[in-house]
Amino acid sequence: MERGGFERERERMVEEQLVRRGITDARVLDAMRRVPRHLFVEEALRDRAYGDHPLPIGEQQTISQPYIVALMTSLLALDGQEKVLEVGTGSGYQTAILALLARRICSIERLPSLALRARAVLEGFGYNNVWIRVGNGTLGWPDEAPFDRILVAAGAPSMPPPLFEQLAKSGRMVLPIGDTSNQTLTLVEHVGGEMRFTPCGDCMFVKLVGKYAWET
Ligand code: SAH
Repeated sequence: MERGGFERERERMVEEQLVRRGITDARVLDAMRRVPRHLFVEEALRDRAYGDHPLPIGEQQTISQPYIVALMTSLLALDGQEKVLEVGTGSGYQTAILALLARRICSIERLPSLALRARAVLEGFGYNNVWIRVGNGTLGWPDEAPFDRILVAAGAPSMPPPLFEQLAKSGRMVLPIGDTSNQTLTLVEHVGGEMRFTPCGDCMFVKLVGKYAWET
């Protein structure tokens, strides 16, 4: 697999879209400098892979905007030891960033075609700490629970209860909560058995679909 290329675009993306907007976590910035985002989109879109926007990845889904990936990852406050659940693998780009920053990533994607492609791309990079499964991520991944961190990459009407049940004590979860056109990026912390919600800005994600989320 071709890994090189686009280094300058990637550096510019980090400086102009992330550092300038206040992303300060050095490990997150380093991961965003390293992962070749252009290899997570189809060839015809590679020239636009480092732009300040999401891009289509097929099946009416999108790869998230670089800033949103960096912001969500920063909110998880990863130090490298964590077991992470990701809901909505999509292209696998966010998964690759998490794989560089945490111990073990369990990622669930609803659409088999996207899960297969993401798995192939990530295997090509040689990640050995990523597990991708097809299923409804709002149910979590009970066999692997509890999770130190949970990242939901699709917009939910409310927090799916199974996810909080599978969040470790002192764990952190980041998810977009709102209606189908507009959501609030929300940090959910598990503090002494209680849930603490902190709003962290507006965002726009595709729908989280399934039980405990949108119907279709
Ligand atoms: N972070 C991804 C973006 C994913 S887009 C990236 O950067 O590429 C959101 C993904 O969530 C889509 O692929 C969609 O199919 C998936 N999704 C929606 N509802 C889901 C559910 N209930 N369980 C698992 N995946 C879901």
